[in-house]
Amino acid sequence: MEKKYDPYENVLSILEQAMDKGNINKYTFEIIKNPQRAVIVYLPVEMDDGTVKVFEGYRVQHSNIRGPFKGGIRYHEDCDLNEIKALATWMSLKCAVVNIPYGGAKGGIKVDPKTLSKRELCRLTRRYTYAIEPIIGADSDIPAPDVNTNAQIMTWILDTYSMLKGKPCPGVVTGKPVELGGSRGRASATGRGIVISAKLILAKYNKKLEGTKVAIQGMGNVGGNAARIFYNRGAKIVAISDVSGGIYCIDGLNIPDISEFVDNGNMLKDYDSKGVIHLSNEEILTCNCDILVPAAMENQINESVAERLQCKFIIEGANGPTTVAGDEIIRERELVLVPDIFANSGGVIVSYFEWVQNIQELTWERDQVNEKLENIMTKAFNEIVDECNKTGCSLRMGAYIVALRRLIYAEEIKGIFP
Ligand code: NAD
Repeated sequence: MEKKYDPYENVLSILEQAMDKGNINKYTFEIIKNPQRAVIVYLPVEMDDGTVKVFEGYRVQHSNIRGPFKGGIRYHEDCDLNEIKALATWMSLKCAVVNIPYGGAKGGIKVDPKTLSKRELCRLTRRYTYAIEPIIGADSDIPAPDVNTNAQIMTWILDTYSMLKGKPCPGVVTGKPVELGGSRGRASATGRGIVISAKLILAKYNKKLEGTKVAIQGMGNVGGNAARIFYNRGAKIVAISDVSGGIYCIDGLNIPDISEFVDNGNMLKDYDSKGVIHLSNEEILTCNCDILVPAAMENQINESVAERLQCKFIIEGANGPTTVAGDEIIRERELVLVPDIFANSGGVIVSYFEWVQNIQELTWERDQVNEKLENIMTKAFNEIVDECNKTGCSLRMGAYIVALRRLIYAEEIKGIFP
């Protein structure tokens, strides 16, 4: 029987390679490899029909050595502790590679939110917040949106936490509505970061965004916003998908029309327009394009998909979309991959801006946010490329080495307590 894909094994395997490649002292590897804390909570919720269901939730705090724990909350039926441990580790690496003063964490609930009413979802979110309240806070651990969670869910978390503390605590979550202390530009920040990554990597190959053919897997916060920004910058989105399937048009899709269709609660399998054909999610990954953006879930580009990719560039919008074996084939085929811990860092960078604005009780203009985001990502990209030039490694390895050096430096200078 085929072994179940484990994202935590994936991240540990890349970390081990990065330790060797970057000649990094293994003394602290045991520390980096394990999260500092992993909590499982059981959440009783009264359903609308009067029955009671108990849901399993998680919060994993990987590292706070460089700053408070930071990481999103995911609602998904396949969510489990190892997935959340992997995602928390990626958060520590992500914050380190772009050099913002945060550690890494992640949370989740094993639930398909589509099966719940809005009131059930609200009760579940509030109960989860109550359960993790002792370990979160603006100066300790700051949640944010991830798969199937959004500004509404962040508002319920913020409100529940503030009720428990008896005062408004806007800094406890990021990704909340602007009206409640959210940052301008946060909702689209991860998508914007994908486009910045694309621009940076294309420039390295003397290419431009205009006219570049892009295929995107996932039409949620990351994929949907990336699609809109790519489109507005003159790239040609030839394919896009959601969980129901994908659509493809050789002349380029009408993204504003598709966005409106999806925002109205429709699924892409039902989208119809002249020249548009329907493809499976796997066909979207392997379609003819210049740039592929996997922006849905982990474990999408495995060996078999990697062998059939037709793109030249892969920008990882999702966390961990490529398996270790898929990654090897991508390197052998000399395709250029911009890794998740850098490519999708736009969200946490603007979350950091949101938190800074909350702490200082200031609000920044959207242009200011976008400009600062681009500056941070450009600096980090250049540092990764320098590392690759020195060691001849891939961009993924370069990003891991830069991040690990920062984490390990912090661990070593602090030493082990007691
Ligand atoms: P989302 O829930 O807003 O959207 C997910 C999209 O993927 C939806 O269009 C959904 O239909 C689609 N999808 C789900 N399962 C799929 C499958 N098996 N095949 C194809 N499509 C599928 O989630 P999001 O916030 O856009 O997150 C997407 C990815 O990006 C995740 O890996 C997440 O961890 C990562 N990420 C998100 C953020 C953020 O700010 N939201 C930041 C960094 C990384």
